[in-house]
Amino acid sequence: TKTAESAAGGKLVMVTNAEFPPYEYHNNNEIVGIDAEIAKAIADKLGMELEIQDMAFDSLIPAVQSGKADFTAAGMTVNEDRKKNVDFTDTYAKAAQVIIVKEGSDIVNPDGLEGKKVGVQTGTTGDIYADDIKDAAVQRFNKGMDAVMALTQDKIDAVVIDREPATVFVKDNTGLKILDEAFTEEEYAIAVKKGNTELLEKMNGAIKELKDSGELQKIIDKYITA
Ligand code: GLN
Repeated sequence: TKTAESAAGGKLVMVTNAEFPPYEYHNNNEIVGIDAEIAKAIADKLGMELEIQDMAFDSLIPAVQSGKADFTAAGMTVNEDRKKNVDFTDTYAKAAQVIIVKEGSDIVNPDGLEGKKVGVQTGTTGDIYADDIKDAAVQRFNKGMDAVMALTQDKIDAVVIDREPATVFVKDNTGLKILDEAFTEEEYAIAVKKGNTELLEKMNGAIKELKDSGELQKIIDKYITA
């Protein structure tokens, strides 16, 4: 297996959880999406090869910490807790946690989640926030899509999840909607092993170039139509 040291040999190993369209998902046998393309553009700029491995969301940070992977790009929200375990690059996208309900639900805003059955993806910021909802029964799923399925089957009352995958899941399933009022605003960044300043600085340089040239926005616009 590859280790972080492989970065010196010209290959970057990225880990992600490819259950998160449009940021990362399976298309035939390939992992595609915004993060996959941004990571490829960064690797190209650094003159390195890119290998992408798929794993559970809550395994991503441990994989980076142990050196099994060089970095994770996974629509990962920057937060103080994670900063204790990994170093984040500059942010590359704005995001939000939103609430998905069934059409006609009596939940009309975040306060309405009180005392409800709320589905989340394990280890995500949605999971962390749902923990603070008064009297809510939080149900954790390995994939965001599984939480959405439980909602369509009336096993839960709402799903707290990132806005862009929510938009995809709601489009693919009739009878669901996203509430206008978001739960929280957040930002995504790539995470590297704590103290790997060399890779962090290289990646920040590449991210800056991709931002300045408009290439980064072009990748996002390819997957997200306003
Ligand atoms: N943005 C959320 C988080 O960082 C969810 C990311 C994901 O499920 N891939 O926790």
